[in-house]
Order: sequence, then C-alpha cells, then structure tokens
Amino acid sequence: MLYDLQSLLDERNRTLYEGVASQLPVVLLDSGNDLWTAHLKNGTAEIHTADASWPGACFAHELLHISLRLRGLTCPGYVDNENIADIKEIVGWLFNILDHFKVYPEFLALGYTGDQFLADSDPSEVCERLDHNASELERRFIADLPIDPLALAMPIGMLLSPPPSQRWRYESRLKRVSPPGFFEDLEALLLEWQRSPTLNSSHTFAMFFKLCGYQRIGFSATNTQADIVVAGNL
Ligand SMILES: [Zn+2]
Repeated sequence: MLYDLQSLLDERNRTLYEGVASQLPVVLLDSGNDLWTAHLKNGTAEIHTADASWPGACFAHELLHISLRLRGLTCPGYVDNENIADIKEIVGWLFNILDHFKVYPEFLALGYTGDQFLADSDPSEVCERLDHNASELERRFIADLPIDPLALAMPIGMLLSPPPSQRWRYESRLKRVSPPGFFEDLEALLLEWQRSPTLNSSHTFAMFFKLCGYQRIGFSATNTQADIVVAGNL
C-alpha cells in the first residue's frame, strides 16, 4: 500500500517529519507486504509503507527509527570467540529490540498511544512465536534437557519489547523455565538502556551475552579494537 505524504502527516508527526526531511530526502515506497520498514540508503530515507489502521502512527514510528540513525544509533560490530550459531541473526534481532526500546518513549511523547506502536498484524505474530517458544522451552524443562540461555533470552526480549502487552500470558511461563533472577536481570538491562541517554549499544550487547553465559564475545560501535566491550570483562 502506497500513501501520499499528505495523508500520512498529522499534527503529531509533522515536526518530526520536517526535522528528518531537512537532513535528507524521505522517499515513500510500497512494501509489497504488511510490514512497515525504514532504511537509510544512498543518502535518502526509504520508508516502506503497508496497509494500516493508523498510518500516521506507523509513519511516525519509522521516522523515529531514521531519526535515531541520524543521531548516531547503529548496530555494533562484534568479535565472537564463542562460535555462537546464528550470531549474525541474533545480533540483528537484539539491535531491533534495543532500537524499539529507544523509539517507544519518543513515540508516546508525540501523543500516540502504545497500541498504535505496531502495525495491526504484528501483535498476533508475536503471540504465535511466543507460544511456540514457551511450549518448546517447557518441553525441554520437563524432560530435564539443557536449555541454552540464549533460547530463553530471545522470547523474554520479545515479550518485554514495547509496547507492553501479553505480559500476563507469558511472564510466569518463561520465569518458570529460567534460572532464578534471569528474567529480572534481562528486564533491568533493557530498562537501563531505555532510560540512559546513550546511543552506543556495545555495553548493553555485551551485558546481554554475559547474562546468557557467553564471555568471549565483544562489541564495538566503531568496528575496531579501540572501543570494544568484551562480555567477560564486565
Ligand atoms: Zn520499528
């Protein structure tokens, strides 16, 4: 679904849009599916739009992603000496969660409500995945099989990722199969990141992996040794 700019602008997102558009051209494209996404590409901000009940809020959400990029939020580079399977996907996944923790308070401050934070289809997809993950974890827990803390941390991160919803349904299930304090420590880490003014996520990334028991992995905002934060050194 492709919108014209005027139909996406409202009194809540107009100033944000003008701020972004004053720094680089904003190009609207049809996503071709039901997802809204935003990318910086060749000096332009590409926003891919989709059918939504509240397109103005979706537009604001994507503009905030772009705005955070322009203010310096980037996914850190990493050195993984733990040989974690799918590490590239896990880093990308965690960056998306951290990004949303920063976007959410700014989105609310514009005057939108929490339930407008995601396009209509997203919450049910999250539930489906959480159901699947919680059931698999419970199966392993009951059978006394080992559980990789990363396999626990990912659904917990998904559950805690804004907006707050469905928590009542999954929190006790995930806590039951987690080591004592694991859920609480992850939540404290994510809230600390959200409250802190920093846009350098290396420390939060390293702490996340440390909580999961992976020490020999480091993160760097500049992709160099100069500012690498190693989980085992925290
Ligand atoms: Zn988003």
